[in-house]
Amino acid sequence: MKIIMLGAPGAGKGTQAKMLAAKYDIPHISTGDIFRANIKNGTPLGEKAKEYMDKGLLVPDELVVDLVIDRFKNPDCEKGYILDGFPRTIPQAKALTEALEKIGEKVDFAINVEVPDENIIRRMSGRRACVGCGATYHIKYNPTKVENICDACGKELILRDDDKPETVEKRLNVYHEQTQPLIAYYTEQGILKEVDGTVDMNVVFDAIVDILGE
Ligand code: ADP
Ligand code: ADP
Ligand code: ZN
Repeated sequence: MKIIMLGAPGAGKGTQAKMLAAKYDIPHISTGDIFRANIKNGTPLGEKAKEYMDKGLLVPDELVVDLVIDRFKNPDCEKGYILDGFPRTIPQAKALTEALEKIGEKVDFAINVEVPDENIIRRMSGRRACVGCGATYHIKYNPTKVENICDACGKELILRDDDKPETVEKRLNVYHEQTQPLIAYYTEQGILKEVDGTVDMNVVFDAIVDILGE
């Protein structure tokens, strides 16, 4: 099963993708996580990506597409995968469609997690990310057992630089301009499904499982 998670920054794509990956036993591929890992390790890709990410802009398509398409070749992708944060532009979506067509495959579902902009700003200021393993929490909606300490690995939590309110606003604009058109693209392909992302994360999860099947 190949699934794309669509939605604004902070809509809950990553949260849902992790839960779905565990349920269906397929990998969760997050381009944001891949870039952050590259930044942490000081790679040339990380260095380039950081320039854009810090400004709330998208990393150029040519730095993203091959990276993801190479990732599919990994044997862990045989049963499918969940894409979180990719595609984010029409050219990325077209590149994905073409790459899959070449090997006789296609995406099964594009799940759009709907959350209005007002909620997003509130959500992002409470998002915390683990410096060790990248796990995501929320100070109010998904708190850790011990304040500021990751439940999974015990390392410290931080507010991502790009989750500061000024950058979130910029990212939302970029989302509306460059990523939202994917909703029409996948509607045309007949695979778009919408879920309400404003409700409790477990309720969102159940709605997605209803779509994908047990
Ligand atoms: P969020 O979880 O808020 O949706 P991500 O972790 O997916 O954010 O992405 C963080 C940043 O990484 C984005 O703002 C963008 O700069 C960059 N990025 C991630 N995925 C892509 C992509 N597919 N195309 C271009 N830039 C990307
Ligand atoms: P995205 O990957 O779309 O950027 P995340 O999954 O990182 O979004 O979620 C953004 C923030 O909102 C995180 O702090 C997360 O814990 C929290 N969150 C996710 N889903 C919900 C929900 N349904 N209700 C409230 N908060 C949520
Ligand atoms: Zn951790």
